[in-house]
Amino acid sequence: MKIGVLAVQGAFIEHEKMLQKLGADTVELRQKGDLNNLDGLILPGGESTVQSLLLDKLEMKQTLKGLIEDGLPTLATCAGLILLAKNIDNAPKSHLATLPVSVKRNAFGRQLSSFVTKQNVGCVSDYPEVFIRAPYISSTEDGVETLCVVHEDKIVGVKYKHQIGLAFHPELTEDTRIHQKFLELIAA
Ligand code: GLN
Repeated sequence: MKIGVLAVQGAFIEHEKMLQKLGADTVELRQKGDLNNLDGLILPGGESTVQSLLLDKLEMKQTLKGLIEDGLPTLATCAGLILLAKNIDNAPKSHLATLPVSVKRNAFGRQLSSFVTKQNVGCVSDYPEVFIRAPYISSTEDGVETLCVVHEDKIVGVKYKHQIGLAFHPELTEDTRIHQKFLELIAA
């Protein structure tokens, strides 16, 4: 199983280590030519505006969007979730726009801009969630399943068909269960 990890900016190495621990092969996606024969895709955290600019500059954006729309299983975390969102409440434009949700960038106030909490993420129980200048999902369209919520009503994890979007960073924990679930989704 070959998982492509977008490696233009951000926390991609941590995702690779996690996947390798679980026995998956990874490939760093740095140019258009890397986007071949993938079984899965990871869009890591980092800075969504920088990632989006680089995807344009490297002419990778349209190919990536097409692959996701054609059904490539995708796990997106934090900035990656912002890249996937169809709408961004506080940004001038969306990026890949394959996930029918709206997100708000940097949505937790200053004091809370980084925090850790533990809760169920879908069927993964008691998962440690690390939030770093995270977005939340302000609305979802039909067919989007909510996986987890913080602060009573802020959605921070969703699944839509083959796309999983998380506002937090599973790659920054020792807990491999979310990556394991993603590999199971691919295998299914
Ligand atoms: N605040 C970043 C953005 O808007 C996301 C932060 C992260 O990925 N940890 O892109």
